[in-house]
Amino acid sequence: MFENYRKKSYDLLIYEALLRRLKGNFWFNDKIITGYKKEKAGYDGERAVDYTISTFRSNDFVILKGLRLNNPPFYFQIDTLILTKKFICILEIKNYKGIFSYDSKQHQLTQKVNGKTKSYKDPILQAEAQKNHLKTWLVHHGFFNLPIETLVVVAYPSTIIENMHQDASVYNKIIHTASLQLQIERLNNLYLKDSMNISSVHEIGRQLQQSDEPLRTNIVQQFGFNEHHFKEGVLCTNCNKSPMKRLYKKWLCPECQNTDAKAHEQVIFDYFLIHGDTITNSQCQQILKIKSSRTPHTLLTGMDLRKSGNNRTRNYHAPASQCYPQKSYIPANRLMRIQQESPN
Ligand SMILES: [Zn+2]
Repeated sequence: MFENYRKKSYDLLIYEALLRRLKGNFWFNDKIITGYKKEKAGYDGERAVDYTISTFRSNDFVILKGLRLNNPPFYFQIDTLILTKKFICILEIKNYKGIFSYDSKQHQLTQKVNGKTKSYKDPILQAEAQKNHLKTWLVHHGFFNLPIETLVVVAYPSTIIENMHQDASVYNKIIHTASLQLQIERLNNLYLKDSMNISSVHEIGRQLQQSDEPLRTNIVQQFGFNEHHFKEGVLCTNCNKSPMKRLYKKWLCPECQNTDAKAHEQVIFDYFLIHGDTITNSQCQQILKIKSSRTPHTLLTGMDLRKSGNNRTRNYHAPASQCYPQKSYIPANRLMRIQQESPN
């Protein structure tokens, strides 16, 4: 089984950067916290399903996690795609919690919270729309007549889904993660013959991955932050105080005495996420708060970033969104406050 790595969305990386870098109470902002929670819940739900899939024991599967593809003039996103020799299966992953009612006659999904009713797009129709996009995409890439199945996967076992009209087809369309393997086996038994050989399965997987274009948005613009809103210098990777002091080939936190040779890297990645796609030596010198004009050059070069221009006008470019470090953190005290309470 081949499976790729689940990447954080670009928006989630930006929210994490804001929650790290904003000073004082500027981070305790309703839009930032709501946006962060929404992105994080989506990512966590998808990861819960990834875990279940990783326990599958089939050598013939190719699993692709998080695809955004262009089907001009549209883009479409697939949470997880399972490619097998017999069929392709789109998983639309939902991180709903609580009790949901699915109305297969009205094509509506509703949730009741504190006496109020919230309604959502029909997830079965959403998955069908992706199926049509994918079908067109495959034909454009020379792959014809491949059966495509769809499953809406509810990530958390505690979520209750009510099938209002006890519609038999819905039970095989909206499922819990725990029954995913059984459903894949059920689909596998529906098809008597293979639609393609294993090398075609891998070839389609390769082309899909190559065509993945993760969404890059500019959510920072809406907040109107300027340099005064942000902490200065390199944040300690242990206690999050700033700035760390530059010693020979490493950074020292005057607060907790932690040393770290690579503490500048997150600061530079955060600069890209919050401020823009390029950085110069002098901008880097400023954000790292260092005296030497030679050091930024050494540090930036060490990060293997794409370069353009020469000497004084040299720009170092942000990596593709899927190349950002995925294990970036949020200071523990802030994370705790986010989980405990919400701003007004
Ligand atoms: Zn420290």
